[in-house]
Amino acid sequence: MPSVFIKTFGCQANKSDSERILGDYLARGYKETQKWQDADEIVLNTCSVRQSAEDRVRGFLVNLNKFIECHGKNKPKVILTGCMLHFNEIEIRKLLPDIDEILPIAEVGFNQKAIRKDKVSAWVPISTGCNSFCTYCIVPFSRGRERSRPMEDIVKEVNSLVKDGYKNINLLGQNVNSYGLEKSGINLRKLYMDKNNFSGKSIPTNQSQYQKPISIPPFVLLLQKISQIQGIEKITFFTSNPWDFWDELIEEIATNSKIDRFIHLPVQSGSNRILKLMNRGYTRETYLSLVKRIKAKVPDVIFGTDIIVGFPGETDKDFEDTLDLVKQVDFKVAFVARYSPRPGTASQRLYPDDVPAKIKKQRWEILDQITNKDNLKNRPLIP
Ligand code: SF4
Repeated sequence: MPSVFIKTFGCQANKSDSERILGDYLARGYKETQKWQDADEIVLNTCSVRQSAEDRVRGFLVNLNKFIECHGKNKPKVILTGCMLHFNEIEIRKLLPDIDEILPIAEVGFNQKAIRKDKVSAWVPISTGCNSFCTYCIVPFSRGRERSRPMEDIVKEVNSLVKDGYKNINLLGQNVNSYGLEKSGINLRKLYMDKNNFSGKSIPTNQSQYQKPISIPPFVLLLQKISQIQGIEKITFFTSNPWDFWDELIEEIATNSKIDRFIHLPVQSGSNRILKLMNRGYTRETYLSLVKRIKAKVPDVIFGTDIIVGFPGETDKDFEDTLDLVKQVDFKVAFVARYSPRPGTASQRLYPDDVPAKIKKQRWEILDQITNKDNLKNRPLIP
């Protein structure tokens, strides 16, 4: 029986994809090995969010080659998937000559049975890709445009998870609250980008990804359907973006006791100038107003967030605006990242990486101390 080892880098979306990749291998008669040294095939599910994540993939391949040289072992087949695929094939092979195959993650599909290690909480993908084109982010290029999974497939999977004993479901997508809207809503960003040909220096400027749906938002419907399944005790979702967070969703969270009170709502910056450069599509005022509306309806809400410090051109004043927003919201968890330009992104093309590393580190330390003082970062359900 051939063996496979899957090495996953990066975020929860990658971990969830790896569960399905493993399911695909097992269905084809492979067994999983915990030691890459024993594997006939190695899948590297890569992350490109920071240079260090890419360096770890290269480091892994260096170790693999050393091992083969020392032990005279036949080289296992090495397959690359995940977010490093935004490099074109020629670039990937220049960077990583030992790769045998390149597998776009879309080929794994949503419906391959996932092999889950966590026996309490199950991650269930509801959409993949992203249409938002934040200037620093590679996801719209590496994972492609937003695609929602049919609601009946998700409900079917949750039903079968309940039969397997799961009570906690974590719904996963790059922007869960826009679930299903790429079909029924009007994608303003796409319209704008088609019109302006986003290969140049233009950046879409609209304030909302989609027009408000005329009926109940599909994500709210999905939450209702899942919470009606007998045996489900808790539903969590990642990631909600500050756009498409309709009042109907707030109302559903407020009135549905099965929905987790933790909301991960990435803000990235508290400065309007930087938010604009990031193309985040909201202002600090609209973000704070959303937080206020949620707090009013869900008094026990716990907010988590993502923040980037040292984005190109970030001044002391911009950082102070971020600090001020952070204090106003009172985030209990924040994933604070120091900006690094990612190849293929608009920010890398358009803006010089001009904030010194020392300043990025100082700002990172200040924010990390303020936001993670309650030590919730290791809360099991936070991605
Ligand atoms: S919303 Fe922005 S940061 Fe999030 S995946 Fe999409 S482009 Fe990236």
